[in-house]
Amino acid sequence: MFGLIGHLTSLTHAQRVADKLGYPEYADSDLEFWCMAPPQVVDEITVTSITGQKIHGQYVESCFLPEMLAGGRVKAACRKILNAMALAQRRGLSITALGGFSSIIFENFRLDSLRRVRNIDLEVQRFTTGNTHTAYIICQQLQLAAQRYVMDLAAATVAVVGASGDIGSAICQWLAAHTQLGKLLLVARDRQRLEELQANLKQGEICSVEDALPRADFIVWVASMNQGMVLNPQVLRDPCVIIDGGYPKNIASSLQRQGVYVIDGGMVEHSLDIEWNIMQFLNVANPARQLFACFAESMLLEFEGLHTNFSWGRNLITLEKLDLIGQLSRKHGFRPLMPEA
Ligand code: NDP
Repeated sequence: MFGLIGHLTSLTHAQRVADKLGYPEYADSDLEFWCMAPPQVVDEITVTSITGQKIHGQYVESCFLPEMLAGGRVKAACRKILNAMALAQRRGLSITALGGFSSIIFENFRLDSLRRVRNIDLEVQRFTTGNTHTAYIICQQLQLAAQRYVMDLAAATVAVVGASGDIGSAICQWLAAHTQLGKLLLVARDRQRLEELQANLKQGEICSVEDALPRADFIVWVASMNQGMVLNPQVLRDPCVIIDGGYPKNIASSLQRQGVYVIDGGMVEHSLDIEWNIMQFLNVANPARQLFACFAESMLLEFEGLHTNFSWGRNLITLEKLDLIGQLSRKHGFRPLMPEA
């Protein structure tokens, strides 16, 4: 059985979902309560592959909220993730994806050194960040967008915001190996990490967000921001494709300007309906079929009996792994989510 560890995007979002799921004490409570709340298994899942194979899984709500990081409640945030992982392990889930900020917290606060959770020794091979599949899907979305909007990648400037991160660096690596880009702009805050990336890629120009936005034909946004940025669409090129892979979304505002196309980055669509309820609370158009690529990664590993931490650590995603997860994704009937034509 596979698992998904998820969280909601804000306290208001969490209260709304708790109300709909029938957890009134969570729905009526403030951040303080959510900081103390234990994780819950809130959904049972059945997924059928296009090969006919069926698998079962569970969704664990960690009760982590981005406000915990914004408000400096780091200990609470770490406890949420460790407790959710311990619950997944106690339930016997063989491979569990750490969705959204779960893996970022695990890495940033070095939770690897705190593997004992009460009477459970966390077995990290039971968990995957899902970042390999997410990076692969975003690369596909970029190529599909270039076709859809008739934009030539060879002449285009592509900015990757969050380039030095786990997903961002994998995307840059894939783009450097598989495409001829006009220009690659590498954006993040820590210059040293960007310089290391640039040296590995042997290409790319380091750039601030402000400088990148007016220059980019494509903006791939994969920064670990606990709340989205408000963007003035007037600074963007026409046309400009934005692939927003953040969770919560990196862009807070809805961008309504002719020639600006926003794609829900890192999302996949399955060919068959998935039996679950949780996605209807996560703002997607077709909750029976659309999901985060990181969640789909644990499904793929379960289909293949690959019960191992396929995506783990930081900046260790290889081209071979991107290739393999891409093959498995297609084999089992997932495809990159694109807006209606
Ligand atoms: P990492 O922590 O590995 O990397 C984050 C990157 O963002 C780093 O390059 C960091 O560099 C940069 N960054 C952070 N804040 C800012 C900022 N304010 N401005 C510019 N750059 C910034 O994160 P991941 O790669 O694991 O995840 C990236 C995003 O993808 C997250 O939002 C996450 O929730 C989302 N995600 C989506 C998934 C999906 O299935 N769709 C799956 C997993 C994650 P620096 O600190 O130097 O600025």
